[in-house]
Amino acid sequence: MRVLKFGGSSVADGPRIGAMTAIAAEAAAGGRIAVVLSAMQGVTDLLITAARKAAGGPEGGRIALEEIRGRHLAAVRHLFAAPDQSAVIAPLTIMLNELEEILHGIELIRECSPRTLDLVMSFGERLSCTLAAAHMRARGLDPLLLDARELILTDDSFGAAVVEFQASCARIRHHFAAINGVVVIPGFIGATTEGVTTTLGRNGSDYTASLIGAGASAEVIEIWTDVDGVLSADPRAVPDAFVVPEISYEEAMELSYFGARVLHPYTMLPAVEKGIPIRIRNSRNPGAPGTLIGALRHRSGAPAARLITGIASIDGISLINIQGGGMIGVPGIAARVFSALARERINIIMISQASSEHTISLVLRSGEAARALAALDSELAMELTNRRIQALERIDELLIVSVIGENMRGKPGLAGRLFTALGGAGVNILAIAQGSAERNISIVIGEKDHTLALRAVHAAFLADPAAPAGTAAPAGPAARPAPDSAAGGGEA
Ligand code: ADP
Ligand code: ASP
Ligand code: MG
Repeated sequence: MRVLKFGGSSVADGPRIGAMTAIAAEAAAGGRIAVVLSAMQGVTDLLITAARKAAGGPEGGRIALEEIRGRHLAAVRHLFAAPDQSAVIAPLTIMLNELEEILHGIELIRECSPRTLDLVMSFGERLSCTLAAAHMRARGLDPLLLDARELILTDDSFGAAVVEFQASCARIRHHFAAINGVVVIPGFIGATTEGVTTTLGRNGSDYTASLIGAGASAEVIEIWTDVDGVLSADPRAVPDAFVVPEISYEEAMELSYFGARVLHPYTMLPAVEKGIPIRIRNSRNPGAPGTLIGALRHRSGAPAARLITGIASIDGISLINIQGGGMIGVPGIAARVFSALARERINIIMISQASSEHTISLVLRSGEAARALAALDSELAMELTNRRIQALERIDELLIVSVIGENMRGKPGLAGRLFTALGGAGVNILAIAQGSAERNISIVIGEKDHTLALRAVHAAFLADPAAPAGTAAPAGPAARPAPDSAAGGGEA
């Protein structure tokens, strides 16, 4: 059995859904398949807009809702002959009417809870799957449309629900035991034990595909998207980025965690658990081999010799510096900082600590910075009053750049080369952290330097896709963080 997941870009409109069906039909000719689909590209954003505007008052969500309706109806008109259209439009209309009622409810109570927002967002995948399954049926595929909420069991952390892996696998295994043909499953959504609809976080359809693969013991999980595979950097920032033919699960996890949008970071977990390879493929270029993600201990050819595998970045980042001489040698401050933030469910992306500068730097998403500051202000109130800690400093409009690769381990001089590349481009570094597995070095810089920094680092390490290690650029002097760096060392 193969799992084929098509992202929003691969079901964006009528022509893309047509291409998706053709790929699915070819795959189905070769054996059992499960097709996991995202919402049509942009529809999840439109649903969020509709819900937020509806909470603002009467008619607020109307424009976005009509755009969603229009996009689906246009796809139907493209994909089906006129006499067949009404049979496809009927179930879509039932769902769109239900969505309209929910939005009306939000308008009336003037508020959209995270739970309600998840329900609203779930319509994107349910609509795209209803439409796509109808098209597959018209092409002779006889697909069975499953409700992901009967398969993916989660807790009630709405917006980013935590999946109960074993229970979900058992349900998937049970459902799949009785099915032989093509299965279509909406990505991104799940449900609690009480049956309340949840979502797995933005880009979560990749994760769904991997869960289905693990539960159904698939031989491969294919992620069909709009690029030829995992690229050495975000192609929008680095035009020279190239497809990496093979990467390890761990490299893929690091790249996606640090912002390579091509995969949801959790996608690798179920696949690792069951040893299932993941292949990234391009629905606009189905002939391309894509990228194979698996347990790669030893790689052959030039890519194996290359020092780093890829570069990723996350924007919209803030840094909070906790500084104070009173922290030196006082155990427990870090623990209290983390507990206070954990209670607020604030995700710290990166930390670094410099004992000489008696600073703890916390790197997090800017959207969470105000809540983090409030939590820290209250947790550290006493230390702040008696001046053992100076005021907390917040710096916004930052970016994390991470260089990632299995071959980085035990390679001295790598950090130096990174700083030389950035220094040469005039990029100022605010914080640095290295993962203990030495698979990742992450730095924090100003958002304004985004393109400049990514291109400089790519040129220094990955200028020639075929070049072995050490030939892409001259090695720099010994590692030395920029003198104005706020922190050094620490753990990613
Ligand atoms: P989908 O709609 O298929 O889920 P996404 O937009 O979520 O697609 O992810 C694919 C996009 O990720 C690509 O179009 C590309 O712009 C972006 N991207 C960012 N970093 C990388 C990378 N390292 N490799 C490949 N794509 C990347
Ligand atoms: N539709 C959801 C999103 O836009 C999930 C996904 O596409 O993977 O985030
Ligand atoms: Mg995606």
